[in-house]
Amino acid sequence: MSAIVIEKIATRQGVIGEGLVIRRALPSKERRMVGAWCFLDHAGPMQYGPGEGLQVGPHPHIGLQTFTWMIEGQIMHRDSLGYEQVIRPKQVNLMTAGSGIVHAEDAVDNQPGTLHAAQLWIALPDAERHREPAFDHYPELPVVTQDDVCVTVLAGECLGKRSPVKLYSPLLGLDISTTGAAKTTIPLKPEFEHGALVLRGSATIAGEALTPGTLLYLGTQLDQLNIECNEECQVLLLGGEPFKEEILVWWNFVARTQAEIEQATMQWNEGRYFDEVKGSPSPRLIAPSLDGLNLKGGA
Ligand code: MN
Repeated sequence: MSAIVIEKIATRQGVIGEGLVIRRALPSKERRMVGAWCFLDHAGPMQYGPGEGLQVGPHPHIGLQTFTWMIEGQIMHRDSLGYEQVIRPKQVNLMTAGSGIVHAEDAVDNQPGTLHAAQLWIALPDAERHREPAFDHYPELPVVTQDDVCVTVLAGECLGKRSPVKLYSPLLGLDISTTGAAKTTIPLKPEFEHGALVLRGSATIAGEALTPGTLLYLGTQLDQLNIECNEECQVLLLGGEPFKEEILVWWNFVARTQAEIEQATMQWNEGRYFDEVKGSPSPRLIAPSLDGLNLKGGA
């Protein structure tokens, strides 16, 4: 049996909407995916002033699911299926783009507020990626408390609880929170690879000291994970079977060929194919130019 791969990967700074700075943990040049999880932004915790909240205008997605885990604050989701849904703390919004959907995410009003959230994408397997688009709001997720540690099962199953979130690959998503010093052991599926990101505070995970801004990648073959918090802390743990298909991720699209990306980009920028989102106060986003881009060469 080969040694278990453990990597510490620094997140990089990203900007969403009108200048909100976030930490991007996936994809990175070191690690593109954890299972089918192919994108992870950690936004906040941050305070914003009047009119300075999230403003991400209408933009399209194909070939993926967007998965939002709200920790503090609230966001209004609007999409081209006609859904208008505020997401609040401890809730998940899941949007299955499939063959194509458009959405916008905005602060609910112009008041000052707080934002702390994890925004993830899940690549859809080839057999599912052209399916009808869908949107689901999950107001409550199953919670297990052990060793003074509160484990919320966001995706997949753990500790005898199963998340209701509708997925198309074997995945795990856990929020692990403590209100003070605590340690616990989480059972893992050895066929899954995993990634852990501290969202608040500090924790020692699999013997590695971590704070926000570092993704801990753990390869397959682990059947349990030791987590030790020295203070109040919160950790996002992702897992999944290594994704067997090669994917292309460009802008808001997950595809298999450059031709598919080019087609979706042209369709969006020319106002074809994708439906409209109504009600967002933010301007429609434009896909960047594909000129000179060779996706197969690896950008
Ligand atoms: Mn989006």
